[in-house]
Order: sequence, then structure tokens, then C-alpha cells
Amino acid sequence: MEQNVKELKEKLFMKRKNTYEEMNDSEIEKADEFCEGYKEFLDAAKTEREACTEAIRIAESNGFKKFRKGIAYNPGDRVYLNNRGKSVILSVIGRQPIENGVNIVAAHIDSPRLDLKQNPLYESEGLGYFKTHYYGGIKKYQWPALPLALHGVIYKADGEAVNVKIGEDENDPVFVVTDLLPHLAEEQYKRPSNKLIKGEELNILIGSRPFKCDEKSDAVKLNLLNLLNEKYGITEEDFISAELECVPALKAKDIGFDRSMIGAYGQDDRVCAYPALMAAVDTEGIPEKTSVTILTDKEEIGSEGNTGLRSGYLRYFIYDLAEASGVSGHTVLSASRCLSADVNAGFDPTFPEPFEKLNAAFLNRGVVATKYTGSRGKSGTSDASAEYVSEIRKLFNENGVIWQTGELGKVDFGGGGTVAMYIANLDIDTIDIGVPVLSMHAPYEITAKNDVYMAYRAFSVFIK
Ligand code: MN
Ligand code: MN
Repeated sequence: MEQNVKELKEKLFMKRKNTYEEMNDSEIEKADEFCEGYKEFLDAAKTEREACTEAIRIAESNGFKKFRKGIAYNPGDRVYLNNRGKSVILSVIGRQPIENGVNIVAAHIDSPRLDLKQNPLYESEGLGYFKTHYYGGIKKYQWPALPLALHGVIYKADGEAVNVKIGEDENDPVFVVTDLLPHLAEEQYKRPSNKLIKGEELNILIGSRPFKCDEKSDAVKLNLLNLLNEKYGITEEDFISAELECVPALKAKDIGFDRSMIGAYGQDDRVCAYPALMAAVDTEGIPEKTSVTILTDKEEIGSEGNTGLRSGYLRYFIYDLAEASGVSGHTVLSASRCLSADVNAGFDPTFPEPFEKLNAAFLNRGVVATKYTGSRGKSGTSDASAEYVSEIRKLFNENGVIWQTGELGKVDFGGGGTVAMYIANLDIDTIDIGVPVLSMHAPYEITAKNDVYMAYRAFSVFIK
């Protein structure tokens, strides 16, 4: 009888897999190796522009060529489309005709950060600052007293572009948002925690040395502009036509004595973007169906704008592929399927309250399949069909992809969304597949190496 119960449980209960029970030593070694490349990518690509450039560099060195509209490509051909330097689509042409649909993997390459305002530079009491407007969902109190680097592009009056990346090299200066000393923080402590640091207090300290002159007013600002003019040839008005982003001046590192995890800025969603990119470039031979890998911008602010996935750029790309084969675009869209490759929250034992353990995602248990996101009664989600979940479940199980399900927190405890719904709205079967993250949206986010590798495996088997 006792034995029967054990067998019955074995047969009927869902087995919760752990990568450390399922992966052998050589697989774990492969995961560690894969993550070395991932850490390099994280350090080289802290903004959407840099991630786009880096993805194209990697793609080109793996045989991808610039996509040209109107060309009927052959099976095995590799193309990429650069959307304004902030989003990129990679495609490997498949064996089957395009009307059978394409396999889409979509990740995003923008991350929460502090953007400079259009007129950012000022001086106050002998200190020079940049005003910022934060981008995406940040806990503002996490950003003061943290070394920051400045990345981006400035267009000068004559239209010439100047690329900026300062604070990453060992010898570079860094920048910082200041915070109040605890001794004088009595009133600050009384603020609600979401106002502990206010948006207009996220001012970045950039200098304090005045220009040598008799004129005392704005001498620090003058000195800073003079330095910027010497280095970049810019004037104050040029900030208007610039996109400058302040990101943590921190490098990707192994976390833990056992080096099993990775700590870095911007892992939401580079932890899916890099595996998606590598799955595309590592495609062996000719895939069954055409694969379309999208690394998109603007997810963190609602996917708006012409580099975000609410715009037509993905649809137009697929239409162009279709037309070149004499097929209507919507025929291809309706036959396609998609993995929306984005992160989910990893269960945090220090903060168990907002998680519902039965349906939470855990580190080291593989990629997370999230049927629906949204909040307050599944509002704002595409909710993958049982049919499609079944198809993905079967695919992963048959190919040794270790995966788990995960819902973002308890019902009515908050919520969030991904690009899944914008792709599903094109009449494409879509499900969220991604990596669980600790401290999501913090300046330093944590992932587990085995999960990162499982994301790569999941995207690889999907586009094979
Ligand atoms: Mn994300
Ligand atoms: Mn996010």
C-alpha cells in the first residue's frame, strides 16, 4: 500500500524540475561558458543603441546580410533589418514556404534608466548638474549614491552625430545622484517610500570647478560646457537634439561563492535578448520555417513609438518577406507563432509576501512560461491559448528544455505586461517565455546561469 501511494504520486503529481537535478556536469559547464559571452554582451550593450550595434556586429560576423526589400531570399539565407539603430530584426529563411508562417522570438533591449532632459545643464551653489527624466519603472530611491555612466548620441547644429560613452573605462570619471545624510533625513524618512527620492531630485552631479575668469556667475557651467566643447565640439543647444542615458557604471559579475548567478544592470531584458540573438546566429543549416528574431526598443515605456512593437515595423518586415514570395502579408502573420522573450519575477525568500508560491517562478528551475501577464483580472494581456501552451510544453519536454510556469505575483498585488499582446494582436499565437530575475528593474539585477542557458535552449529548439 505504502509503495502504491508513492508510485501513484510519482505518476500523477506534477514534477517540479530543478536544473541542478536535471543537468549533468557537462551541461552546467556549457551554461557557464554561455554566460561568459552573455556577460561580455551586458558590458558592451547597456543601451538599446549599443545592444542594436552589438547584435548587428555579432550577426554580420555570422553571415547575416542587410535585408533588401523585393529580393526573394533562398532557404538558409540570413538577413537583418536595422530599425533606426534602436531595434533589429534577424531572419533565417526556412525550408518551408513562407505561407506556412514564421517562428518569431521577440525580446527587448531597452532598460530602465535616467535620461537627460532636453535642456539638462545647470549650476547651483558652485556645483554643476544634469536634470533627468527617468525612463521606465524605477524605484527612485535606488539611484542616488551609485556611480553612473553617460551613454548616448548628440547631434550638433550641422547634423553631425557624436557618440558618447563615458564612465565605463577604468580611468573614466563617473557621475552620481546625491542623497541626504541620515543625520538630516528626519523629514525625508517621513515621506512615503515612493517619494523618498522625487523625480526632480534625480539630478546628476557632473562638476564643481569654475572657469578661470573674473565673471563669477555660472562659471562652473561655463567650464563644463568648455570641456564638452573641447571634447565633443558641442554647445548647450546641441543637448536638444541628443539622447543621453545615465546607466549604472557597474560591470557584469558572477554572484556567489559558487559563481552560479550573474549580477548586472539591464538584464531585463538582455537576459532574453542575448540568448535569442545567439539562438538565431547559431542556427544550424536551414531551419524548417523562417525564423524572425526581434530585439526591440521602448518596451519599458509601453512599446510606443516607431522603434517599439506597437509600431508597424515588424508587420512591414513580414509583409516584405511575404510579398517577395508572392504571398499576402496577413496569410503569413496568421500562420505564425511567437515566443515573447521577456523576464519574470523570481521568487525572493526575503520578500515572500507578494508571491503566490504555487504559481511563482524560482531561480534555477529553468525558463518561465507565462500564459498571461496583466493585472486586476487579467487586464492587459493576450493570454496564450491552451492549444498553444500545449504545443510549447510538448516542444520543450521533447527537447530537454527545463522550464517552469510563473505568474507575476499574487492576484491584485500589482502586475505588468510585455510585448506579447502587441504581437498576439497581429493574429499570432504568442506566449511569454523568459528568465526569472531577482531585483528586477533595480540598478543591479540577478539571474541564474542555468536559467540563462535554458532560455538559449528554448529559443533554439523553437526556431530550429
Ligand atoms: Mn522586460
Ligand atoms: Mn521591465
